[in-house]
Amino acid sequence: MSVEPPIHLSPPDLRGGEAEALLDALGSGWVAPVGPQLDAFETELAAATGTCGAVGLTSGTAALHLALLTAGVGAGDHVFVSTFTFVASANAVLYVGATPVFVDSDEASWCIDPDLLVDELERRQRTGTLPRAVVVTDLYGQCAEYGRFAPRCRELGVEVVEDAAEALGARSGGRPAGSLGDIAALSFNGNKLITTSGGGAVVGDDEERLSRIRYLATQARQPVAHYEHTEMGFNYRLSNVLAALGSAQLATLADRIADRTATRVWYAERFAGVDGVDFMPEPAASSPNHWLTCITVDGSRAGFSATDLMAALGAAGIESRPLWKPMHLQPQFSGSAVIGGGVADRLFSMGVALPSAPRQDGFHDRIAAVIDGVIAGAG
Ligand SMILES: *Cc1c(COP(=O)(O)O)cnc(C)c1O
Repeated sequence: MSVEPPIHLSPPDLRGGEAEALLDALGSGWVAPVGPQLDAFETELAAATGTCGAVGLTSGTAALHLALLTAGVGAGDHVFVSTFTFVASANAVLYVGATPVFVDSDEASWCIDPDLLVDELERRQRTGTLPRAVVVTDLYGQCAEYGRFAPRCRELGVEVVEDAAEALGARSGGRPAGSLGDIAALSFNGNKLITTSGGGAVVGDDEERLSRIRYLATQARQPVAHYEHTEMGFNYRLSNVLAALGSAQLATLADRIADRTATRVWYAERFAGVDGVDFMPEPAASSPNHWLTCITVDGSRAGFSATDLMAALGAAGIESRPLWKPMHLQPQFSGSAVIGGGVADRLFSMGVALPSAPRQDGFHDRIAAVIDGVIAGAG
């Protein structure tokens, strides 16, 4: 058993400004899901994502829920969803009573396959069975290739919900994550690039829709003195105290991305020349935030498998994880329709997400020793 401290996959990264920001928020008296820190955080998020506005919420999952609800998605509708994602993307579809249809990944990006998506939309247009929306995940900090499907979605009247939970600060074709769909969800969960310990936001350009989301997230309370409600709402607003934490974290976003990118480069050096180990591919126009460094291991070429690598890391107290288990393989969604699926299946069977925190000498020496040992023991 290892006596050294555990190394986590993506631990919360505190950089010094957080405690003061929290104390300021407490001192302001706005210890509630409303206040100046929340307003400021929303303004900063809109700026960071190149959008007109943001609504701070209790989670990224809540953001996806309200994005779909305000897209008019409801019972009887189909919603296409990236199959290679975290379950929240698909659960939000269930919350509004709709049916998810899963779409496979592209080998070239691991994000949703644009050709597969557009071909299926064309086919469904001919048969009058278009989905109401598509939830597209910006995977592991890399934006999907929206330019290859979003224009066609718009022509067909299919709403594009960008699940940018993992991608804050990433870009595609020079445009920031959060600005690539019709509306987007962000997450500030503890393992994400910035955290509010738990939280999320919707960002977008449709001010009227953002106001409606803010209203729905506040129990759909009418703007009168007494408590007046004309429809069902939700208690989804982000705390003002946590927004202060978010602002302090967001201020260092560029450094965080630079550090995670350096970690990825460091792994590339470790695995350089090892046949059968491939990194998540990055299309030419993509500028990921490198939230997690992800690889696939072809055991027959590398001489060790993804499972071998994860076991060796685990034995040394170092956390790594398989890649997302595709939604169409989840027992929860057995019987759901899937378009393609083989690419995501293969990524799940061969993939590893490596511990991706900024480099720390002590930690990274330990990771290097394990990786070097696994490579040396191969073949
Ligand atoms: C983290 C995550 C979410 C959910 O965010 P929470 O804030 O944890 O609710 C949604 N989608 C993806 C792809 C995620 O990684």
